[in-house]
Amino acid sequence: MKSKKVVYLDNAATTPVDQNVLEKMIPFFREKFGNPITHLYSFLGQEALNAIEDARSKTANLINAHPNQIVFTSSGTEANNMVIKGVAFKKGKGHIIVSKIEHHSVLHPVESLKEFGFDVTYIDVDSKGFIDINQVEDSIKNDTILISIMHANNEIGTIQPMEEVVRIAKEHGIPVHTDAVQSVGHINVDVKELDVDFLSVSAHKFNGPKSAGYLYIKDKSLIMPLIEGGAQEEGLRAATHNVPGIVGLGEASYIAQKELNSEIERLKTLKDYMYNSLVSNLSDVFLNGPLEDRLPQNLNVTIKGILNQTFLVELNKRGVIGGGGSACASTEKEPSHVLKAIGLSNEDANSSIRFSFGKYTEKEDIDYALDIIIDTVKKLRSMGN
Ligand code: PLP
Repeated sequence: MKSKKVVYLDNAATTPVDQNVLEKMIPFFREKFGNPITHLYSFLGQEALNAIEDARSKTANLINAHPNQIVFTSSGTEANNMVIKGVAFKKGKGHIIVSKIEHHSVLHPVESLKEFGFDVTYIDVDSKGFIDINQVEDSIKNDTILISIMHANNEIGTIQPMEEVVRIAKEHGIPVHTDAVQSVGHINVDVKELDVDFLSVSAHKFNGPKSAGYLYIKDKSLIMPLIEGGAQEEGLRAATHNVPGIVGLGEASYIAQKELNSEIERLKTLKDYMYNSLVSNLSDVFLNGPLEDRLPQNLNVTIKGILNQTFLVELNKRGVIGGGGSACASTEKEPSHVLKAIGLSNEDANSSIRFSFGKYTEKEDIDYALDIIIDTVKKLRSMGN
């Protein structure tokens, strides 16, 4: 029986593990199962330690960091929690600046900190999702301890002017964090150019394994550990290393670095092609997010007259997997906070779909998906939803 074709256009939610990444990981589940912390007396431990240090170098290379600035975590979520709570715990009190369109793994920790007396300012964004840079400057107080602005938005792909944020923050001696979970592995991210103090990354967004990520830290004295216990990661992040996961993260970083430039061009072409095809075949389709300074793999559109949840379920039945915004928010009924922040009405936010591409997306997949998408929109519109 011929299996049904599936076109996966939800790579911002997660990506399949690259075959070469998987092959590098597999030995570390069984024959190379050592615990790196036992390296002083165990050759198995030494082998595992060598593997994570090799992964640390590859990981650091991709963002032009020094290997000892990489602290492995279980995820992008943990990296975000680690920096926000870690800086807050270190300082004890103070004011934090974030944007209104951060991922929930930034917004929820700062909400919690408010209950402990921390003060938070939420920066507005314009209709394309760019932060109001003047508002960042005007919001700074004597006791501002951290500015956390995401590098690229997961829903609408907007890439923020981090250099400007850093310039302003430096004038006031305030550290800057950026959540780069959606950008690392997809566009050029250079921590020396960005000059941020902290940067969060997650492997599963660029063909690495799930539950493997890291926080880049320029100056480790600025932060308290979130997870305490053993001496792993210089005591900044205790717990036995996820060796296969870290090996996979390292290999995914190495591969992404090699493929980056060609993938940027290829995915941008695919995205433009899909957007132009949607607009020329359907009325009332609008792009969310900017044309320039946008992740090449992200297309987010409002398709008037459809309800995104119904639409996604219908597409899914026909083998096309799109996304409704933040994967983590997919059980929430509220319209996306990102689309609301760029000024969309509830109705338009609930009629918006994110298509996100990856290294396995080909033009023929887009053509196949377009036929189904266009047909489904017409059917739903004729039924009144
Ligand atoms: N930050 C952004 C911008 C994301 O898109 C995501 C995941 O969707 C995360 C953080 C969380 O990363 P992880 O899935 O590794 O916890």
